[in-house]
Amino acid sequence: MFCIIYKRHMRIIDVHIHVGHRFEWTERAKEVWMDIGPYVPEIFDKEERQLPQQYGDAIKREGVFGGILIPEYSPLTAGVMPFERAKEIHDVHPELIPIANLNPNYHDNLMDAFEEQLKNGARGLKLHPIHGFFYANDQKLYPLYEKCEKEGLPVMFHAGTSLFKGAKMRYSDPYTFDDVINDFPDMKTILCHGGRGFWYQIAEFMVKSFKNVYIDVSGLPPKNLLQYFPSMKKFSHKFLFGTDFPGAPGIKKNYDTIKELIQDNGAMERIGFRNAYDLFGFWKEDVIPEDRVNP
Ligand SMILES: [Zn+2]
Repeated sequence: MFCIIYKRHMRIIDVHIHVGHRFEWTERAKEVWMDIGPYVPEIFDKEERQLPQQYGDAIKREGVFGGILIPEYSPLTAGVMPFERAKEIHDVHPELIPIANLNPNYHDNLMDAFEEQLKNGARGLKLHPIHGFFYANDQKLYPLYEKCEKEGLPVMFHAGTSLFKGAKMRYSDPYTFDDVINDFPDMKTILCHGGRGFWYQIAEFMVKSFKNVYIDVSGLPPKNLLQYFPSMKKFSHKFLFGTDFPGAPGIKKNYDTIKELIQDNGAMERIGFRNAYDLFGFWKEDVIPEDRVNP
């Protein structure tokens, strides 16, 4: 019995994993983000194509139970890493689940593109306003939010600054997220990076005030999290572990730093596993053999 409980405490879900061939990313994205991680030599071939098997293996080796794979369509800042990249990895690692990505400046018909990605296995929607140059409260996006709210699909927003060249901060205005949260109170909304830069307090306020708002702590130095979010432990049911892979020093390393910081196994189980498991419906993938779950 003890053994089972212990194992559960060790399970990790990383809700923030980027995908794409290396050459699909902009030079700046490689330089300031991707290359800070140790993973590049192993997950791309000589032509800089992602290797789906190795990509997932590198993630699973860190003790990851499951994860969310994020494509992106932001040609002017990050690059175009199409949905197929997430699907390629998912096909060999079913516990790594793709999320849809859309950009109103890229996709002519947002709903058609969304339906197509959902049909191919996407669970939820990730939007990247600061890289794609649109506002979260753009009315063009409202039918998508309606659908997500109705069908219980989580919506992730990049909420915070970006170091990628050309990123425009006004598109990350936290009050645009606040509009959406107020207009779709039953939609599961995740503020990725929790307002990174100088909007931490606003992001934390939203998590505390709105039932369905969460923060994913990816792309932040784990040791500083309690400074950014003093209520993180008390609101451990509203925070999600994520890394921004492959641009992270290490999944397990980040996880262990947060665990050390939080000093509470129950809170850590919620942040590192349970909240994401419930939000994204990982029980549908719960047929994973025990030996592939974190030892
Ligand atoms: Zn990211």
